[in-house]
Amino acid sequence: MTLPVYFDHNSTTPLDERVLEAMLPYLRTHYGNASSRHEYGTQARKAVNLARAQVAAAVGVEPVQIVFVSGGTEANNTFIKGAAAQLTPSQIVVSAIEHPCVAKPAQELTRAGWKLCKLAVDSEGRVDLADVQAALAQPTGIVSVMLANNETGVIQDVAAVAETARRQKAWVHTDAVQAFGKIAVDFTALNVHAMTISAHKIYGPKGAAALILDKRLELKPLLSGGGHEKGMRSGTENVPAIVGFGVACELAQSRMRNLSSELLAMRDKLEQGLKDMGARIFGGNAQRLPNTSYFAFPEIGGETLVIELDKAGYAVASGSACSSVSNDTSPTLLAMGVAPDIAKSAVRVSLGKDNKMQEIEGFLQALHAVLNRLKRLSAIAV
Ligand code: PLP
Repeated sequence: MTLPVYFDHNSTTPLDERVLEAMLPYLRTHYGNASSRHEYGTQARKAVNLARAQVAAAVGVEPVQIVFVSGGTEANNTFIKGAAAQLTPSQIVVSAIEHPCVAKPAQELTRAGWKLCKLAVDSEGRVDLADVQAALAQPTGIVSVMLANNETGVIQDVAAVAETARRQKAWVHTDAVQAFGKIAVDFTALNVHAMTISAHKIYGPKGAAALILDKRLELKPLLSGGGHEKGMRSGTENVPAIVGFGVACELAQSRMRNLSSELLAMRDKLEQGLKDMGARIFGGNAQRLPNTSYFAFPEIGGETLVIELDKAGYAVASGSACSSVSNDTSPTLLAMGVAPDIAKSAVRVSLGKDNKMQEIEGFLQALHAVLNRLKRLSAIAV
């Protein structure tokens, strides 16, 4: 069976061969527990330390600032719940377009006496700094604004948000899961106290991610146990995944330098073709990740289009699949003021390092045929 062309890199990425090679010894022969005192343990500990240095270098921090966790979801929960447990309840400010693993823990804090403020976005999906300033007129303990949105790819001015938040002594976090590996991400330049990145979005394995912390920040850990990761994340380290994460971070640095312009050229071609067929592009006038295109053909359901394109040989995502496994209308699009029936038509193409211009051309032809067929069918149904 031939697999479809993969256009869903914001969901997850294939494992880079070099990452797999680096991981294999830690799955086969170097299987020690990184806490053990014998040679097996030493091998594992050294490998984790090397990965910690690789991840730290990729975002411009010191290795001690890295807390290895299982995924972006765990990192975001660790920050929000861990910060809330250290602070007196006040206000938590998040954008209205956060991934559910930020939005939901933020919502849950309201049960513990926190006030939740959701920052609106404009029709292009951008947070307005004036809104951040207005929100921070209230006493605020925590601010979390994502660097790039998983659906639209729209990039926020996190450094400016952080500057405002710091004036009010709030702790600032950014979810950089989508941005990292696609654009340069520097912890210090972003001026945040905490940041999340995840391995499986950058051609690394599932099961490893990092919460990066300001050295002065003290959070209450989510898990109680053996005190791994300086007490921040108890549980035996997932050594093979962490090793893979480290190598993926190194590869991401060198890849980004050349890939951006290729991705942009492919996306431009794609979006020109989409517009010619009558698509509406979401976030198209904002600063965006180079690989992401989010669009809708208003009269055609997103789920239907995804299924038909899969049959035609292209793996893309529908709006509802971008942030959850449920069929809910995308909260990101609703926050951008998109009408619910149009939001239900949303489809995302997210390109990756191995995609080729030819695949874009093939996709546009396939899409054209699918759209014609679906329109013919709906005309018959009427
Ligand atoms: N944050 C964003 C913006 C994401 O897109 C995702 C995954 O899609 C996550 C967090 C969750 O990361 P993980 O899948 O590593 O738990």
